[in-house]
Amino acid sequence: MSDALEVLNPATEELVAVVPAATRDDVDAAVARAAAAQRSWAAAAPADRARLLRRFAAVVDGHIEELARLEVREAGHTIGNARWEAGNVRDLLDFAAGGVERLSGRQIPVAGGIDVTFLEPLGVIGVIAPWNFPMPIAAWGLAPALAAGNAVILKPAETTPLTALRLAELALEAGIPEHLFQVLPGHGDTAGDALVEHPGVAKIVFTGSTRVGKQIMAKCADRVKRVTLELGGKSPNIVFADADLEAAAAAAPMSFLDNTGQDCCARTRILVQRCVYDRFLDLVAPGIAAVAVGDPLDEKTHMGPLISRTQLDRVRSFVTDDLTAIRGTAPEGPGFWYPPTLVTDVAPTAPVAAEEVFGPVAVVLPFEDEEDAVRLANATEYGLSGSLWTRDIGRALRVSRAVAAGNLSVNSHSSVRYWTPFGGYKQSGLGRELGPDALTAFTETKNVFISTEA
Ligand code: NAD
Repeated sequence: MSDALEVLNPATEELVAVVPAATRDDVDAAVARAAAAQRSWAAAAPADRARLLRRFAAVVDGHIEELARLEVREAGHTIGNARWEAGNVRDLLDFAAGGVERLSGRQIPVAGGIDVTFLEPLGVIGVIAPWNFPMPIAAWGLAPALAAGNAVILKPAETTPLTALRLAELALEAGIPEHLFQVLPGHGDTAGDALVEHPGVAKIVFTGSTRVGKQIMAKCADRVKRVTLELGGKSPNIVFADADLEAAAAAAPMSFLDNTGQDCCARTRILVQRCVYDRFLDLVAPGIAAVAVGDPLDEKTHMGPLISRTQLDRVRSFVTDDLTAIRGTAPEGPGFWYPPTLVTDVAPTAPVAAEEVFGPVAVVLPFEDEEDAVRLANATEYGLSGSLWTRDIGRALRVSRAVAAGNLSVNSHSSVRYWTPFGGYKQSGLGRELGPDALTAFTETKNVFISTEA
């Protein structure tokens, strides 16, 4: 190990921990250990693997509060959100455990014998996680990959390694075999890159920026390495004049402010039909002002700080002085605070309206009719999520089908569910995670024909 990662509490800027950063040699050694552990794991009885994953889920369940408080300290998430995140890890492990004994191949009719398919594990999986949802996103890869018979090496983000390290300890406590799940905190361009380049890593599961995702995809292409990418977003929230405007306006603030806007699904482009645009702004403004921004450990807080000074500077750079905005409040003093901000009167092509800000900032843009709404919604390189508000069921279906995005919700800002598929169109990603096929994504299909004529 060399170098070190300094973990700061984003709400206070106090040093929480110093964690050694993994080197390329550490990655080599971890892959060798993981490969050995994976062979025994894949050979174990499915019922035993399922039982161990359920036990892992139970141990996580016994440590929800501890994990949540650790997440608050390293990531500044509100305590309520952090508890949900730890619970999501437990639920993912339980869900994946239920799939171990159901991961069946097929029997296909052929002449002169039988033909069967096997869903074989891939081997060692590299999960490269971001800082915005350190625990859930780690578990999205970890749980189904282990359930399908693989080993996992998780590289958490530089700023948030602590919950990942604790999950690895809890896995051992639950009886998950040594080296089957390893956590290597480190820098992206060393530990992360070493996982991507390593010939012993069969698949990379990456969540983070579109820029890094493209680099990883290019490197994986060299080895035809499997890769899943969950990248950025600039998701629309389309409000039609026939919607329940009060409900749409009440839901809009937290649809882009939850997790301080550091959410790839944040609904940061609010598109409102022109004839109700002014009325919508009147309705939404009190909601922005009412968002409680402050100590993430206070149960009444809705929104905490941004993750880091880098992220704070990035968010500030988008909200230039010439912009008009409805603003909420934020604490002064130490911590990476930024107020809830809804930018009005802005061109759809302005950087704040077109690029992923990844902070508590959204824009509101008017549209004329359904066709115009769809055009504006799709006028982006991203295609992750989106919402639409209307009382017309035909329109709800038409627009849901017309918006090029992987995850849409009607009259809600439904969040991600582990049992439904999640992933992006266009430059928001590649492949799908979660949902009924989560385990299959960590397998290779092998077809075997057995002659009955010999
Ligand atoms: P990033 O893409 O640099 O980091 C994400 C993960 O990738 C981290 O674990 C990092 O260490 C790793 N990484 C970085 N470079 C790598 C490389 N060359 N090879 C392998 N792994 C590498 O994201 P960031 O710098 O933390 O954030 C920048 C912006 O990315 C944000 O402002 C936001 O717009 C976006 N972002 C999106 C998501 C998302 O959920 N889609 C998550 C985090 C950040």
